[in-house]
Amino acid sequence: MALHYRMLLIWTLTCSVPIAVAQPQTETIIRDGDIVTAGGQRTADIRIVGSTIAEIGTGLTARDERTLEIDAEHHLVLPGGIDPHVHLGGNRVDDYTSGSAAALAGGITTISNFGGVQPGESPIEALTRATNQIETQSIADVIFHPIISDPTSATADTLSALVSAGQTSVKIFMVRPSFDRNAPGFLTMMYAANSRGLLTMLHCEDAAIIEATASRLVAMGRGSLEFFGDARPVSAEVAATQRAVAMAEVTGSPIYIVHLSSARALQVAENAQARGLPVFVETRPLYLHLTRERFSGPNPGLYIGQPPLRTLSDQDALWEGIARGSIHVIGSDHVAYTREEKLDPSQTVVRHRAGMSNLQEMLPMIFSEGVRTGRITLERFVEVTATNPAKLFGLYPRKGTIAVGSDADLTVWDPAETRTIRNEDMLSASRYSVHAGKVVTGWPTMTLRRGEIVYQNREITGSPGSGELLQRTPWQDPRR
Ligand SMILES: [Zn+2]
Repeated sequence: MALHYRMLLIWTLTCSVPIAVAQPQTETIIRDGDIVTAGGQRTADIRIVGSTIAEIGTGLTARDERTLEIDAEHHLVLPGGIDPHVHLGGNRVDDYTSGSAAALAGGITTISNFGGVQPGESPIEALTRATNQIETQSIADVIFHPIISDPTSATADTLSALVSAGQTSVKIFMVRPSFDRNAPGFLTMMYAANSRGLLTMLHCEDAAIIEATASRLVAMGRGSLEFFGDARPVSAEVAATQRAVAMAEVTGSPIYIVHLSSARALQVAENAQARGLPVFVETRPLYLHLTRERFSGPNPGLYIGQPPLRTLSDQDALWEGIARGSIHVIGSDHVAYTREEKLDPSQTVVRHRAGMSNLQEMLPMIFSEGVRTGRITLERFVEVTATNPAKLFGLYPRKGTIAVGSDADLTVWDPAETRTIRNEDMLSASRYSVHAGKVVTGWPTMTLRRGEIVYQNREITGSPGSGELLQRTPWQDPRR
């Protein structure tokens, strides 16, 4: 792609009296790109002034010689991806800087993080602890989800404070035994969350079924990772999904089911959706590309994530759910460990490192395996990777689309570029990809975050600390 600065800025002193001149905002024009939103496609120019999209049209005229022009002919221009399911920091190797680098190189301009609310803390205190790191380390923009382990920490008052601080979601782990111990409290919390406009995210695996099944396998001498899929059966996901739906129905609260993995759990969610319940579904790219046979092959530790990999028919059902709109979001569930950590031989079906690095290759792989194969349209790709997460997480229309007034979070894609995924190209500090060796067609060649070029020519050009902790509004229904 040609990228030319038309002229270097030259100031000439034309008068002897110094005058104060307001510094004009930078202007960028992206020319002749095939612009894609959830609503359709058109070939046009995009004028960016400062951090926002100022105009979309054909034959836009540059304001003056300082305008930066980007030739995007025969390229796609997509809204920057929004990945609401990213874990950074803690015992993982990615911080906000390396996580941002992986995201931006993969066409994602907004990432999330989750932070545990410690005993005695309120959700806003978890946010406050994270804020400094976000503001100093991040290049991508960031949203934050407090993890609620003790539901008494999330009252109407403390959740109001969280909303006032600009964060409008919380996460619950049904998979933890502490959920069952406090289930009535979590229902009370969901009433409060709903009254304050928060979206409740749920990890739907039944704690009792998993605990009993995994312990039994260990007792039978089948505790190695080869049996990981057996230790976390589909029925555990189905039971928890049914319970989550019932909790949504009783409390009136919208729910967001993270990383749904199976056809049967999807059916539960679809039945709820058909009854008009606000049940939103995320799946994870791992389930769209791999199946449970990986656990009986070499290095099963590399493929460990919760829920586990399922069957080919589950995989087909998930692609179909994306295509028909019952799956609203694809989130990476990026959890960066090194390859050595993932292959730690002491791991069992009970104790293991769940999750893997996935931010950089997620969108290109969905494009390559989903859009190019005709399983999903380009518009649906944009919808589930940008527009729907923007709506659900209170960022729309500032983000998640390409429109006048929206943030200029844009990715320029070469839909014909073919690359093989290689460990040495990975920008996550995990420095490997579970998909290494995979040939993928369609890659971002340039990423702009709020008008600034933060990735081009396979280099990160944005600075740590330029990312923002975003202020969010209450969730919006993506079906409208
Ligand atoms: Zn996760």
